[in-house]
Order: sequence, then C-alpha cells, then structure tokens
Amino acid sequence: MIPLVPLGKASLGLYPRFVAEVEEISGQIAGYRPKGSLEALFARAAKEELSTLVALHRGLGLACEPIRAEEARELEPALSEEVQAAALRPEEASVDTRALTKAVLEAARLSGAEFFPGSGVQAISREGGRCSGVITSSGKFSAGCTVIAAGCFSGGIEGVGAYAPVRPAKGQMVGLRSPAVKIERVIWSERIYLVPRNDGRILAGATVEYAGFDKTVTAGGIQSLLDAAIELAPDLRGAEIIETWAGLRPDSPDHLPILGPTDLEGLLMATGHFRSGILLAPVTARLVREWIVEKRVSLEVERFSPLRFREAPRAAASGVHN
Ligand SMILES: Cc1cc2nc3c(=O)[nH]c(=O)nc-3n(C[C@H](O)[C@H](O)[C@H](O)COP(=O)(O)OP(=O)(O)OC[C@H]3O[C@@H](n4cnc5c(N)ncnc54)[C@H](O)[C@@H]3O)c2cc1C
Repeated sequence: MIPLVPLGKASLGLYPRFVAEVEEISGQIAGYRPKGSLEALFARAAKEELSTLVALHRGLGLACEPIRAEEARELEPALSEEVQAAALRPEEASVDTRALTKAVLEAARLSGAEFFPGSGVQAISREGGRCSGVITSSGKFSAGCTVIAAGCFSGGIEGVGAYAPVRPAKGQMVGLRSPAVKIERVIWSERIYLVPRNDGRILAGATVEYAGFDKTVTAGGIQSLLDAAIELAPDLRGAEIIETWAGLRPDSPDHLPILGPTDLEGLLMATGHFRSGILLAPVTARLVREWIVEKRVSLEVERFSPLRFREAPRAAASGVHN
C-alpha cells in the first residue's frame, strides 16, 4: 500500500478543517479524535520488528516513535502484560464514521445538495459521444459531470465496469463496552485494531473476506475478532458485546483507489478505496472538485487513473482473482 501513502498523508492533513467545516455547517458532531495510535508487538523478536517498523514509517515521512512495553502500558493501561514493545504514531486519528456520515449528509443538504433515496443508478447515459447523466430506477437525470461513487456496486452500473472493476471485501466488526477498560488511542496488534469512541464504546475490527455481496455476521468472524481483542487487552474478556455488523469495502484489482476522469467526457470515478475510504474522504472530495471546477489537480494522482484497467486488461483481470 506504499503508493497510497502520499494520498493518505494529504487526506489526514485535510481532516481537521474538513471536520470543522462539516460540524459548523451541519451543527452536528463528527466524533473526530486526533489522539494518535499505538501498535503493540507481542513477538519474541519484538525489538527487531520494532526497528523495522519505525524505519519503514520514517522512510515514508510518517511520525513513529519506538517505546518500551512499560511506557506503552503507562499510556494504555488496558494493554496485555505479554506486549513486548510498541510503536507510537502521534499524528494518527480516528473519527466516528456514523456520526461523520450523518453530519456530511446534513451539511451537503444545507449547502444545496439534493438526495433521491431509493433511485438506484442502473446505467450511465450517453449523448453525442459524452456522458450525459445517469438512468435510475425512477428515471433519467441529466448532468454535465457524472461522478460514480457507488462503492463496491460501482462496477455493476452499466457502462462503468471497464473503469471500475471493483469487488466487495467484507469486513466484520464488534462493538464492546466495558467500564473496566479505558482506551485513549487506536491500538493495533498484528491481528486486530481497537478503536475507542467518545461515547465509551470500543470497536474491534476488522475481518477481510471475499464472500461476494454477503453481509452475514458469522460465528467464526466474531470469534477471531474477540480472541484477538482479548489477547491485546485482556480485561475486555468481561466486556459487554453491544453490537456486531459487517460492511462491504470496494476493492480494486491492485487494491488502490480508482480516481479521476475517464476517456468518456463528463464521466469521473471515485471508488475502489478498499480499506482507506474514511481516511481518503477529504482528499477524494478535493480532487473531484478540482477535476470538475479547475480542470487540473493539485496532487500527483495519475497512478489511480480509471484508465489503468483498460490499458492492462490481462493484468487487471488476473489481479481480481488472486
Ligand atoms: C468493517 C470495515 C472497517 C473499515 N475501517 C476503515 C478504516 O479504519 N479506515 C478507513 O479509511 N476505511 C475503513 N473502511 C473502508 C471504508 O468504509 C470504505 O473504503 C468506504 O466506505 C468506501 O466509501 P464509498 O463511498 O466508496 O462506498 P460506500 O461507503 O460503500 O458507499 C457507497 C454508496 O453508494 C450507494 N450506492 C450503491 N449502489 C448504488 C447505485 N446503483 N445507485 C446509487 N447509489 C448506489 C450505496 O447505497 C452507498 O450509500 C472500513 C470498511 C469496513 C467494512
């Protein structure tokens, strides 16, 4: 995922302003927590692993500090006694995705956006060699610019498949609550991450499964999450399970986002964000605005062009099935 780092850094940098604007316009709170993250290492070879991890991050221009296990437990007392070392990433953040989505929708509505819930897009429409809008279950919508951002369903829209050969990557999550466990930062292990929310919930995620368009929450999926969560923070053994759910991430053949104009005038893609669509939301919004309004973008994003699958159809197709 190294090609994604510059885009991710740009988006992380936009987040404070993005959240502030959305909160101001919507009057709602998005649950942004710029408190950093901590990666815990269990292995006997933790010290060597830690040097590699820190060097890798610093080489990419990402802040990362090695800390001893005792220091890690001072910062996060919930951490297991088995943790051997840790890396602190002070610049990382988390956001309450449900609260953010609600606030973004309200901010968009108050800024003049119109919504047509239930009008699923079936196909793009073409007129005079360009994209002229979309055909939905409730009729045709004309548009000067059409942006396809339908997540893992994007490729199923007629006329879009060649630009966005995305497939669903299911992720299961568990929501926990425990008065005995306080977590300040996002905590990672090799097997799991734990995300504290402002309302006291602790989310444990996430599986990555290729199971088609299926959002079933499974016993095996939840077992693997709970095992890994309890290994990382043993007092979670007594936590209440308040919720389980699954979502579908839009994965692309090379696992990178699909962003930008196509070779059909008036048609743009903003999909394929796979595991990073929350992180990449502000930069995606900025790029789409720049493509439409300014006709040029402020970042080097050719790597993510929707045309890359048309140019190398064989490589793209084999990537889908690996
Ligand atoms: C369990 C889990 C954990 C995750 N954790 C993180 C994380 O920690 N950090 C991170 O950055 N990302 C994370 N992600 C990934 C992130 O959620 C996705 O990358 C992001 O949601 C993709 O956004 P999207 O808008 O492209 O697609 P979606 O969020 O899937 O939204 C697509 C929208 O298009 C609509 N739609 C679909 N088909 C049509 C149609 N035909 N016509 C009209 N509308 C349509 C859908 O109703 C939906 O509203 C996680 C995902 C999961 C499942």
